[in-house]
Amino acid sequence: MKTALVCGAGGFIGSHLVKRLKREGFWVRGVDLKFPGFAETEADDFIVADLRDQSVVERVIDRSFDEIYQLAADMGGAGYIFTGEHDADIMHNSATINLNVADRAYKRNNKRIFYSSSACMYPAYNQEDPENPNCVESSAYPAAPDSEYGWEKLFSERLFLAYNRNYGMVNRVARYHNIFGPEGTWQGGKEKAPAAICRKVALAANNGEIEIWGDGAQTRSFLFIDECIEGTIRLTRSNFEGPVNIGSEEMVTINQLVDIVADIAGKKIHKNHIPGPTGVRGRNSDNRLIEEKLGWAPGATLRAGLEKTYAWIEAQIRSNSAGNKSAA
Ligand code: NAD
Repeated sequence: MKTALVCGAGGFIGSHLVKRLKREGFWVRGVDLKFPGFAETEADDFIVADLRDQSVVERVIDRSFDEIYQLAADMGGAGYIFTGEHDADIMHNSATINLNVADRAYKRNNKRIFYSSSACMYPAYNQEDPENPNCVESSAYPAAPDSEYGWEKLFSERLFLAYNRNYGMVNRVARYHNIFGPEGTWQGGKEKAPAAICRKVALAANNGEIEIWGDGAQTRSFLFIDECIEGTIRLTRSNFEGPVNIGSEEMVTINQLVDIVADIAGKKIHKNHIPGPTGVRGRNSDNRLIEEKLGWAPGATLRAGLEKTYAWIEAQIRSNSAGNKSAA
């Protein structure tokens, strides 16, 4: 039986990845500071522990796994990573996890680690024009990410590739672009734009108003979770090390994103633009390299993913308010 380790298995992408690996027949160990928030883990073995601690990482990587997925990171949406208030924690926590995992995996004779970098590592100077952002993989240097989160990702992708160069590992690096879907954080401050907008629209009355950070003219693309998992697995098992974008090329403004969600909800929604952290003006995935190297790229529409996500968030809100009523 093949074995896999998923670091960050209590998180959004990690918990979906565990399900996929189980469907494929893997024996899966998950590790995270916490269990998944919205469903029971399907991992065969789930260790609740802190990967910043070297002795924990020694216990977790006690063998040679067929595949290791390193998704654990101190992360959140714009309200967490772009305010500057969490920079030291983000850099220290995520870099420590990556240093520990890369080295221990190598020492226990593991060969293949997938590492999730982020489109946030692309230089800010290529993302000032919302109509024409440049996120081709080769545009990464001269480096100038707009957040410390992005700088840490850049450091860590280089770390995993250095182990390939010097120690004969076959680590794989992807740069994810805004992944969304059911069973992701949708409230509390760490949620990202699609989930936050679905929540605000679901809570608003027809003809109601929701708050949007900035003017809403900044552009982004959003990738549905199932396609993220597909790309992750394909890259991990391929003979291309990356870094490569895993994202959607369907670019929209945040205002358009609100309009799509409002349409799905069947509501007329007014936008109240307020000051808030927004990140770069434009960002879109460039899928030429993934198509060339893997013969695959995501194809589903943004709307199809938003329909599933909106339905899930609406159900969460309903069951929360039912719970509150029965507790009252
Ligand atoms: P997430 O926050 O849901 O999952 C990350 C998990 O790491 C969390 O469950 C968290 O508890 C865990 N973790 C944090 N510190 C830890 C520690 N010290 N020890 C053990 N576990 C720890 O995030 P996600 O959306 O599932 O993202 C997974 C990875 O993909 C992250 O590395 C993230 O930076 C990257 N990424 C995600 C997106 C996206 O849009 N979701 C975009 C770009 C990159």
